[in-house]
Amino acid sequence: MRVALVNPFWMYDGSIYFGCRNPHLPLELGYSKALLEARGHDVMMLDGQLQALDNQALAEAVANYRPEMTVVTTAPTYLFWRCAPPELRVPAEFLKALAGRGGRTVAVGPHGSATPAPTVRKLGVDAVVRGECEEIVVQLAEARDWSRVPATAVPDGDDVRINGGVHASGFVDHPPLHWPDAWIANHPHHHHRFEEVQRGLGAEVEASRGCPYNCTFCAKIDFRDKYRRRNLDAVLAEIDGLIAQGVGYVYFVDEIFLPQKPLLEALVGRDVQFGVQTRIDLWKPDLLELLGAAGCVSIEAGVESLTVEGREALAKRCRLDTDELADLLIVARRHVPFVQANLIGMEEDEAEMVAAWRDRLLAAGVWANEPVPLYPYPSSPSYRAKWGEPDDLAWERAHDHYLEAFDRFSDIQEQRPLPLPALERSCCAGR
Ligand code: SF4
Repeated sequence: MRVALVNPFWMYDGSIYFGCRNPHLPLELGYSKALLEARGHDVMMLDGQLQALDNQALAEAVANYRPEMTVVTTAPTYLFWRCAPPELRVPAEFLKALAGRGGRTVAVGPHGSATPAPTVRKLGVDAVVRGECEEIVVQLAEARDWSRVPATAVPDGDDVRINGGVHASGFVDHPPLHWPDAWIANHPHHHHRFEEVQRGLGAEVEASRGCPYNCTFCAKIDFRDKYRRRNLDAVLAEIDGLIAQGVGYVYFVDEIFLPQKPLLEALVGRDVQFGVQTRIDLWKPDLLELLGAAGCVSIEAGVESLTVEGREALAKRCRLDTDELADLLIVARRHVPFVQANLIGMEEDEAEMVAAWRDRLLAAGVWANEPVPLYPYPSSPSYRAKWGEPDDLAWERAHDHYLEAFDRFSDIQEQRPLPLPALERSCCAGR
């Protein structure tokens, strides 16, 4: 089968989206392509950012290819599935421009995973995949009848048929990905890196997926949930291929980059630097030293709250006290040139205490952000604790709550984010 895989051309005007806006490799499409090609399918993969194609140009390229199936993602790469733009405006714009010229259409991403029926209706697609998508995309490519493909939702008259729960990919045996030279050449961005000297091109890779914790704010119930570690040889082969393409920095999109000595020891001898997101309470000083020796130049560590009560309210299951966390961050900074402690705006944390703690860390060279507000994503425990299982209006409810509850937004967000219906009015087919 001829299959088109599309990462649309993202725009964030008026969005609450607070993830990075630079281009990144669309890993979910990369894996899908590898699995499809291994089964003999003919695949064209497009990326609006890396190929500088807007949604109309992407649609024309797909139409010229004449695929029997077109897959579009509703979040700009797996890295941002947990903090995706709530609005479906961008994939909707692509599909509208495609206007039925791409064969059967499929949406993959966090929206269809949590709220399949409104995603089918808003986008007007023939199927959405629920959960991690790569194996299900292959099943769709090989099924004539889509009414019973697992982990999907499909239109059924005026209704939407939901076929089972969400899918978790096998992941551990995923092959090394190979990206086009031109895409890598268009990826100078070093994700979450803030030092002045940056060498080589950037890329994103995945050594593990999921996380054994269940913090209340973390939107991973429907995807990237259970912790899995990828075959090390495949990870290293992928990184070696990237280095050969001129990459000097890779960002591990892993939800939680856990200490893994064999990977770190293998990276020591490789000419590449890297960044990670992790929990500092899971590292020991000797492993932090190895992390730095392996080439880590950026750590983003979720501390979230500076009180035991606050961390408990977030279900962090953190065994260290706040001083011990600070000490470890400072140790990390001795070996890694950029270390960030993430904080969330918590009632338990008094402003003066937060300011003093930030000052202490900043004096030691560790960046600690101003506490940021939480968006209750439908795939997070906090959404479900507040409103129960996501229904068809889950994103609208989360969005309204966020806009109403917070009058002060993080300095990396749009100052005046718009309500969801306003963001989706121009493109979505309607509910
Ligand atoms: S430790 Fe990080 S990735 Fe894991 S559940 Fe908590 S926030 Fe999510």
